[in-house]
Amino acid sequence: MSRANNATMRAAVLHRLGDPLKIESVPIPRPGAGEVLIKVVACGVCHSDVHACDGDWPTPPALPLIPGHEVTGHVVELGSGVTDLAVGDAVGVPWMYSACGACEYCRAGMETICKQGEATGYSKPGGYAEYMVAPAAFVAKVDADADLYALAPILCAGVTTYRGLKRSGARPGQWVAVIGIGGLGHVAVQYAKAMGLRVAAIDVSMEKLALARTLGADALFEVGAGVEASIQTHLGGMHGVLVTAVAKQAFELAVHLLRPGGTAIYIGQPGGMADDVRNSIDRVVNWELSIRGSNVGTRQDLHEAVDFAASGLVKAQVAMTTLDEINSIFEQIRQGTVMGRKVLKIA
Ligand code: NAD
Ligand code: ZN
Ligand code: ZN
Repeated sequence: MSRANNATMRAAVLHRLGDPLKIESVPIPRPGAGEVLIKVVACGVCHSDVHACDGDWPTPPALPLIPGHEVTGHVVELGSGVTDLAVGDAVGVPWMYSACGACEYCRAGMETICKQGEATGYSKPGGYAEYMVAPAAFVAKVDADADLYALAPILCAGVTTYRGLKRSGARPGQWVAVIGIGGLGHVAVQYAKAMGLRVAAIDVSMEKLALARTLGADALFEVGAGVEASIQTHLGGMHGVLVTAVAKQAFELAVHLLRPGGTAIYIGQPGGMADDVRNSIDRVVNWELSIRGSNVGTRQDLHEAVDFAASGLVKAQVAMTTLDEINSIFEQIRQGTVMGRKVLKIA
């Protein structure tokens, strides 16, 4: 497809950390060598996009920024040398825009911690736009008939929680707790059930717990004084705990919910003043607990996570919205009032 060099597109752009996003007309990017141009169909709104625009994390995003890393769309143009994708292919673009492929981490299959990695909608322009470019090697090809709106949250919420569950080491029949039943947590519950695990859902919101129940959670706990005692006494503690909440207390609670030998997976990234947590050295040492971080997922994790969705085992609960609503969506995310995931309908 040929396009005039001066063609423009609508995009939501951040110019200064903490400012609202502005809807602007910007040039359509051109795909370089090894890249594809994607016409965006949908983009999920992840809490990480709010952290990015609010400047919550130590390394700030590249400005001006077009956020968005739960992208689905169609390939409309190939850069030179791209042979494994074709114009018309349905694809998804995750947070992991690229990794170097050559460092010790990439060589070991740990491309999620590559120090040369780039991040979609953070260090590179993302999917809050009608078009974006991405390296062909890192986009996920998806079924031509996939529902690209329902699939969008799998590109971050899905792959991230799926990898987190794998990193917990929990096996079928064992218990995992998911603390924070938001965009990530509500798909985490479904991956856990599909992986044969028993699931305790924990949140500050009863409405979110009710959603977790409909998604298959076996036990529900509202955050409060009795959670630790209930889980230790009645369930014998958790084999794994995924923390997807955006509150420091949730990370501290996680360790106290584990049974001896259990593993807490830190996924949420509240940043700022909430970045430092207190843990019990006594509990970690004497119960031989593990605390592991989990950072989105490798390309293989992504393919597996998409497969769960394609086969109907996992389905994000999405509410469609538009680019023009983005600042109000961000506010709802800050307030914690979004159920499931908001997805921008771009095309
Ligand atoms: P979200 O706002 O949709 O969900 C957060 C949930 O946490 C909400 O349901 C909220 O009610 C709940 N919550 C808030 N305080 C709580 C508390 N004290 N105890 C229990 N639950 C509490 O956000 P999201 O899009 O699901 O993202 C969650 C976090 O994960 C964000 O910090 C985001 O940046 C991070 N994230 C990390 C990765 C990674 O690779 N590690 C990937 C994506 C997102
Ligand atoms: Zn995300
Ligand atoms: Zn690398």
